[in-house]
Amino acid sequence: MSARVLVVDDIPVNVRLLEAKLSAEYYDVITATSGAEALALIKAEPPDIVLLDIMMPEMDGFEVCRRIKADPATALLPVIMVTALNEQSDRVTGLEAGADDFLTKPVRDLALFARLRSLLRVKMLLDELRLREETSRQMNTLRDVEKRDDLLNGQKILFVGDQADEGELIASIFDENSHADMLTDPGEALEKALAEDYDMVFVSLALSAGDPLRLCSHLRSNVSTRHVPILVLVEESEPDQITKALELGVNDYIMQPINFSEARARALTQSSYRRYHDELRGALEKSVDMAFTDGLTGLYNRRYVTRHLASLAQSQGAEDHETALIMVDIDHFKNVNDSYGHDVGDEVLKEISKRLQLIVRGQDLASRLGGEEFLIVVTNATVENAEGVAERIRSDIANEPITASTPSGNVEVTVSVGVAMRHSTTETPDRQLKRADEALYEAKRGGRDRVVMAA
Ligand code: GH3
Ligand code: MG
Ligand code: MG
Repeated sequence: MSARVLVVDDIPVNVRLLEAKLSAEYYDVITATSGAEALALIKAEPPDIVLLDIMMPEMDGFEVCRRIKADPATALLPVIMVTALNEQSDRVTGLEAGADDFLTKPVRDLALFARLRSLLRVKMLLDELRLREETSRQMNTLRDVEKRDDLLNGQKILFVGDQADEGELIASIFDENSHADMLTDPGEALEKALAEDYDMVFVSLALSAGDPLRLCSHLRSNVSTRHVPILVLVEESEPDQITKALELGVNDYIMQPINFSEARARALTQSSYRRYHDELRGALEKSVDMAFTDGLTGLYNRRYVTRHLASLAQSQGAEDHETALIMVDIDHFKNVNDSYGHDVGDEVLKEISKRLQLIVRGQDLASRLGGEEFLIVVTNATVENAEGVAERIRSDIANEPITASTPSGNVEVTVSVGVAMRHSTTETPDRQLKRADEALYEAKRGGRDRVVMAA
């Protein structure tokens, strides 16, 4: 996939130089020669990444970067500052303005492309998540630049390196409620990282024992650690190590000797990406949850169970594994509402759902079809299994009054239950459901508080 890169520099020859390098690697390049032009272009034709010169007349690169990062619509756009001077103070000002990285002129190709790929990877991931997340605009307001500071509070971090003073310096980036583990052996570090839930990992590439890059690669590929931000510490004299580390999926690097402000700014940026990522994931999972679960009881809803039955019917084929449908309906539930009010009715529905959930486990599923009617799906069941589960549901509810806000503190309710085994592999879920419903109706007619097995 070809990404669009915006190159901003007030000197045309610099623009052309970068443009040529990038085009040769099949990037789409757009260019601007002033800060104002760049901001207008970003609005009109949003790029995937920006290469930004610092020294420009009128609006300098720091200001352009600050504006990009302050606007929720563009806050996630990666910005690489291109600087003529390799000044520490420039780097810190840039990082505080929200820059994602620096390149020093003349730009070395290897560093440029490694950095582009690594930042683009993060951006693509966030873009994709954001695409799937309808409430993205809401989420964006959470990325309040003002709130960045608490991102480094109460963190659990792992430092892997030989230099204890370096470890102390890294630990001092975080507040006193944070916890840092310091290790010198990469094998031990990997084990620990898999067992603990770290918020951030720092790995010194100057490690004497073992292979620190291999550690990074393992952390990145393991399911439980693949989202943890990894920052490597690297000697200024080893630029190729940076390239390798970025290729392995390391999030960022810090030059040795470590500058406190720069390390802190880089840790902040990673922590903020991580939080944003987690928020998006959380919101995504929540919206999936909301589509398939019942708001009052937390059980699966009718929409979900209908799909579930359809896919079960398809996958079962000729096997003789039986699916049992157990339909449960509260007896005279209308009386509960009439006597104690709708809120007490809701309490009863919730408590019954809890009891159903306790009885049903593993691959079996409890759902609320609607109103005071529930459906339990039991797979790989014999008639005896199914009848046993149904009877247990009936007795668990009848034998123990339900705690509720009534004068006596509880309500006594019973349920009627209808059970239908899957007739044959050709029976549709609808047919089977209908037979369970008929059995339930039989139970009601027979006096309620009982289980009826469909013929
Ligand atoms: P039967 O034993 O024949 O099932 O009698 P019933 O009263 O349980 O059945 P009916 O279908 O006549 O009444 C169901 C009642 O369930 C009516 C409705 O107000 C109540 N109900 C449905 N959904 C909810 C809900 O979400 N909350 C509350 N509190 N009541 C509900
Ligand atoms: Mg009822
Ligand atoms: Mg009913």
